[in-house]
Amino acid sequence: MSETGLVAVFTGVRRPFELREFPVPAPEPGDIVVKIRLANVCGSDLHAWRGEYDISRGQAEPFCLSIGHEMAGEVASLGDGVTCDTAGQPLNVGDRIVYQYFCPCGSCKACRRNKTPRCEVGMRYRFPPTEHPHFNAAYGQYFYVRSGQAVFKIPDNVPDDLAGPANCALSQVIDGLERGRVGIGDTLVIQGAGGLGINAVAVARERGVSQIIVIDGIESRLELASEFGADETILISEFPTPDSRIKRVKELTQGEGADAVLELVGIGSVVPEGLEMLSSGGDYLMIGNITQKQRSEIKPADLVHGGKTLHGLMWYLPESLQQALTLLSTRADRYPFHKILSHHFPLSAINDAFAEQDCGKVQRAALLPWDDS
Ligand SMILES: [Zn+2]
Ligand SMILES: [Zn+2]
Repeated sequence: MSETGLVAVFTGVRRPFELREFPVPAPEPGDIVVKIRLANVCGSDLHAWRGEYDISRGQAEPFCLSIGHEMAGEVASLGDGVTCDTAGQPLNVGDRIVYQYFCPCGSCKACRRNKTPRCEVGMRYRFPPTEHPHFNAAYGQYFYVRSGQAVFKIPDNVPDDLAGPANCALSQVIDGLERGRVGIGDTLVIQGAGGLGINAVAVARERGVSQIIVIDGIESRLELASEFGADETILISEFPTPDSRIKRVKELTQGEGADAVLELVGIGSVVPEGLEMLSSGGDYLMIGNITQKQRSEIKPADLVHGGKTLHGLMWYLPESLQQALTLLSTRADRYPFHKILSHHFPLSAINDAFAEQDCGKVQRAALLPWDDS
């Protein structure tokens, strides 16, 4: 192993990332040092870079922070006592792995009750890269996995490009649809056809959902959603008002509305619209709205009279990550998963990757930390 590795340091809102070198730590007992093979630009990273999602913890710009969370890697070194992954498969240096990017504490109320994967302190180790163990996020050459994080070996038949979105986009929507109990015969609206939305189409299909309707403002994203098996798409320029989109969903669902709506947009105003798209007794599954400044106005009585349920969902249980790998290993030939990562950039071109995904030119960018071509 080299003695130092690069981190693309997040310096502030729409500021350029800076490549800096830090010492590669030795893993403590129970921990793993991972050599990152690829890391993707997820919508939430874009929200942070645009300043819509405040991760500064009160720091003033320029920051020295690590970001990035969707990634796959290989074991660089194993701490004492680590012999297996979370599923009990033997683990060795060089094995390709995926892992939760957060670290559940195992003892807070959320962890104890297992009611939600949203551990109160799951990001407590997200130190600045200047502090040990330096490699806390995906935009770098290494990542430090702690003993509380679920880790799974990547099946041999799953290439890196497919494994990369497993630990965020794919696991998150597997967990979300499970929590909403969305299944056989249900109708589902997906608001937003970014990485999570496209993965959600495949997961919904696998769960037996009978009708999948996807809404987005970018035509190429909706085309990809259709290739994944979406039954209907709604292009925002063709249905420019919330009322027109609600009406369209009602038309497509025989006037009833959808059994579930999955929010993957991150804009507050889509929430009342999505709630109105629901049928009586429907579930609104909110994942995208992570930015603290968003507001929306809902009519609470519609939830009460309609018996609708609003879920706020963040992070996922270990089994969702394991299921993500199983899906990719056994069912990938049914869906064009290889099209989700549309562009690859060396880590040194991270600023181009963010700029191009920001303007919608790129569906989801993958950064290759060992490719300096
Ligand atoms: Zn993500
Ligand atoms: Zn916890």
